[in-house]
Amino acid sequence: MRVSRAGHPRLPRRRDGVCCTPIRSAAVQQHRQIAQFTELTPKAKIASETHGWRAKCLQRLVRLEMPVPQTVALPFDTVRAIAAGNLPDTAGLLAHFGEGQLVSVRPSSENPDWGGPGTILNIGMNESRRAALAKVHGAEAATALYMHFVQLYSTHVARLDPDLFEPAPPSEAALARALAAYEAEMDESFPQDPAQQLTEVLRSMARAWEGTSARLLRQAKGAPAEAGLGLVVQAMALGVGSGNSGSGVIQFADSTTGQPQVTGRFQAQVQGRVSVREGGGALYLTRDPRGPSLEELAPEVFARLMEYGKCARAGLREEMQIEFTLEDGKLWVLDAVKMPRASRAAVRIAVALAEDGIISREEAVVRVEPAALSELLHPQVDPAARRDPVARGIGASPGAAQGRIVFTSAAAQASAARGEPCILVRRETTPEDIRGMHAASAVLTERGGMTSHAAVIGRGLGLPCVVGASGLRIDAHAGKVVAGDGRSFREGDLITIDATRGEVLAGAAALLEPALDDAFRLLLSWADAFRDIGVRANADTPADARLARGFEAEGIGLCRTEHMFFEEDRLTVMREMIFADTSEDRRAALDRLLPMQRADFTRLFGIMQGLPVCIRLFDPPLHEFLPHGREGLRNLADALDRPLSEIIRRAEALAEFNPMLGMRGVRLGITLPEIYDMQARAIFEATVEASRNGAPIVPEIMIPLVSAKREVEIVKARIDAVAASVRMELGADFDYRLGVMVETPRAALRAGEIAQHASFLSFGTNDLTQMTYGLSRDDAGRFMHTYVQRGVFTEDPFHILDVDGVGEFLLIAAERGRKARADLTLSICGEHGGNPESIEFCRKAGFDYVSCSSFRVPVARLAAAQLALREKGMPSPRTRPLPLR
Ligand code: PEP
Ligand code: MG
Repeated sequence: MRVSRAGHPRLPRRRDGVCCTPIRSAAVQQHRQIAQFTELTPKAKIASETHGWRAKCLQRLVRLEMPVPQTVALPFDTVRAIAAGNLPDTAGLLAHFGEGQLVSVRPSSENPDWGGPGTILNIGMNESRRAALAKVHGAEAATALYMHFVQLYSTHVARLDPDLFEPAPPSEAALARALAAYEAEMDESFPQDPAQQLTEVLRSMARAWEGTSARLLRQAKGAPAEAGLGLVVQAMALGVGSGNSGSGVIQFADSTTGQPQVTGRFQAQVQGRVSVREGGGALYLTRDPRGPSLEELAPEVFARLMEYGKCARAGLREEMQIEFTLEDGKLWVLDAVKMPRASRAAVRIAVALAEDGIISREEAVVRVEPAALSELLHPQVDPAARRDPVARGIGASPGAAQGRIVFTSAAAQASAARGEPCILVRRETTPEDIRGMHAASAVLTERGGMTSHAAVIGRGLGLPCVVGASGLRIDAHAGKVVAGDGRSFREGDLITIDATRGEVLAGAAALLEPALDDAFRLLLSWADAFRDIGVRANADTPADARLARGFEAEGIGLCRTEHMFFEEDRLTVMREMIFADTSEDRRAALDRLLPMQRADFTRLFGIMQGLPVCIRLFDPPLHEFLPHGREGLRNLADALDRPLSEIIRRAEALAEFNPMLGMRGVRLGITLPEIYDMQARAIFEATVEASRNGAPIVPEIMIPLVSAKREVEIVKARIDAVAASVRMELGADFDYRLGVMVETPRAALRAGEIAQHASFLSFGTNDLTQMTYGLSRDDAGRFMHTYVQRGVFTEDPFHILDVDGVGEFLLIAAERGRKARADLTLSICGEHGGNPESIEFCRKAGFDYVSCSSFRVPVARLAAAQLALREKGMPSPRTRPLPLR
């Protein structure tokens, strides 16, 4: 069928493609001219901001001379007017397409991610059109077209129950059933007037866009409250009927990997994407041993599609998926969308476009959402590892993790506070579990599917997550979970979650670190060239340091040395040190810890190969190293060869009401100076040793939880003394930098005088948030959800930096510190350091670097580069749906 491009006498068409159409107000039934629609000619004035991305994209295809059926775009204003009841002259609009022409309507919001109502095809179908089409294409094709329309209209426009319109093979009887179902539900027969059909379609789409849930959904994806919807009305290319007819989609890269590869389907005698997805008997596109292909059946069509793919990629500067229809052998391009893609593919595609000179490197860098990278960054179970599967579910968020079972969010938080990886095992998760999920290494639920709470949140957090493991029986009260084979696991037992495969394994299976491919590395190397703030990693152990290097962190910004003491062989010595009665005894225990610490630091320096390593002196309250429960204390009494009563008495004496505000951080350094002396010696001896094998190392030593200048003076004097003795004893010279962690409000306020003794300040925003709010890091989870839900806090301030309050302390300290010492290095090392929002804040405040966990380093590198590029005028990916010029 030829698609008519004839204008209608009532609609004077301007040369730029703009047609003026009156809009009829339903309320007053008066004709008022309040808007326009625009035909998509090459020169028509179409913009994403006024007509939406689809209209703009289709116009580009027209400009590229692709065979797009006649299309008319309705701008946002017109659609808003329709939603308000000012209905357009749809008869005039249809007349513009020509007598008897069927049309489709598709949504066209400014950004494709913001969604929109579903496409409606075959508008204009009625009994008389059916009869007319039957003469040309046969009765079966005409019935199929009508039935498809009745189903779409009934469920999307009249909003009838889809169960009443189950897809059935088109036949007279099935059509009659669908029409009868419509009539029974609506108390009127199916509308036959094409203009009325189109009016109702436009009205229902316009209203659907204004609905509360659609609004909330798109706002969650970054849409502004006033985001508009455009609509495109397109002449139907039928896809059913005589000759070689059908519909298909084609794309030219793999959606998972992004590697070049033609994929898609074509199905004869069907319409639209839905039929292509659902129908059986689809053809492969390229030659395939499994069955016939479009390439073999219609080689010239296939060759043209390949040509169009190349053309669209270069012209639209994006990897596209093309929707096409064959109508009696004639190829039509109906639509093209940005090819759907997983994160790995997004990276490869952006890099390939830049490598092919289609987009710039800057553009490639801004096109990849930083958060999407985290999906690529997770460990996987080693394929060679011994697997002991106990349950299967849906792998809802990729990656793998090992940890001890916990059944509650509170237990997950406690476990994380102890530095022990845990797996949160729940029947299903609810919003109250968010903090527990933040704390866990992986999540396992008995119920739920790909869109359950656990799945959605897990993906958002980049947390390995298996949901719907229905073979498990979780009894949180009894603290156990029973597998299908009868094995039972208790709280504290080790398991492995392989969320890539959707499996739960008993014990700790060997994990492989993420394999970051060339495209990922190349993109980040480009990002580094645009970035103007440093990115370091928080890394405590040699394994962490190796990971940090793998992610190309520019050094270690925070090494929490206490994590080195939790290993079994050190813990007993540590406890001996804690229980020492005299300074000599304490020193004797520390002398045993010294070689272990020295070896740790030597290895760290070796791995980091001359990159800066910032070592934080011991921070936690000592009671954290003591065993819990009577049994543990008895074992300790045995190990230390002391009476149990004494162990209990000493343990009680170490207990504090509010340990986070008690004897920890520099307060330990002042009261038990031997600990810091030992650590400083270990750092300096390791410095000398590691410097022998390469360039001189300049260690950075950081004092935690400072609140007064005098604390820094006292600790500095002792560390200087230790440095002097090591220099003398080893006959070697070295430098070191001493810095202060700003974690208390007072340290922020007094940063000017503190900076006199510190060459760097690093903001520990975890403690600083705790102290600024007077909010316990460990207990806030109990009410945080309510607070956020009720809008008391916009976000959990332990997750997203509170720029108004905590941020003000950062700015005050930065300003006062830099005034006292112009060359002062400033950084952030709290959990906020990896968040793009915090990086933006720190960058604006002139910080030198951010430090975050190794897995967030790539995200931080990319986010930092995007911030710098945005400042130079590159739009952010959120506001850049499709690169259409
Ligand atoms: C902080 O308080 O922000 C910090 C990095 O230290 P920690 O989390 O070890 O207390
Ligand atoms: Mg801290």
